[in-house]
Amino acid sequence: MLQCNCSIMGDETTREAIVVDPGDDIEAIQAILQRHGLRLTSIVITHAHIDHIGGAKKLKDLTGAPLYLNELDMDLYRIMDEQASFLGTPPPQTANVDVFLREGEEVRCGEIRASVIHTPGHSPGSVCLLVPDGKETKLIAGDTLFRESIGRTDLWGGNSRNILMSLKEKLLPLEDNIVVVPGHGPLTTIGHEREYNPFLQAF
Ligand SMILES: [Zn+2]
Repeated sequence: MLQCNCSIMGDETTREAIVVDPGDDIEAIQAILQRHGLRLTSIVITHAHIDHIGGAKKLKDLTGAPLYLNELDMDLYRIMDEQASFLGTPPPQTANVDVFLREGEEVRCGEIRASVIHTPGHSPGSVCLLVPDGKETKLIAGDTLFRESIGRTDLWGGNSRNILMSLKEKLLPLEDNIVVVPGHGPLTTIGHEREYNPFLQAF
């Protein structure tokens, strides 16, 4: 319903895969994994909003892959019922979180190395993943950075000062040619956001 972007990354040699933010449509995710002969080894959640995590239990039950989330979003994770009633949807079942994502750590999958950047603000435990891929590096940004916008901070645990600090100190120092995969909406680049994002012009 909320059109969350889900990322699937697979290693060409080991055929292992990471899925980031399985909000819903688990059948579609499974079909992609199957089509590419991939075995899911990690389910990574950028933050514990229902539209990013709603399908995680189903996917975990089907694949046995461990679930990753930053510890500071556990309070948010525990109020999935409240989040669901806020949206007027039935509450999803929740799975146990297996691994806490921490700043500077990596989620590995074959040759893929996704570095965790803790970017509090949209939620206390929001993280981005920086994923080098040959010549092109991608930033999976969750709801911290969108094309010419940023995440809202009026929901549970949101903090507008913190999101601006995260953007300034953690994301803007990244290189211009990095491709940003936001949690919603079209792709962008760090360079485009540096130039055109109205929220970043004060820095
Ligand atoms: Zn969100």
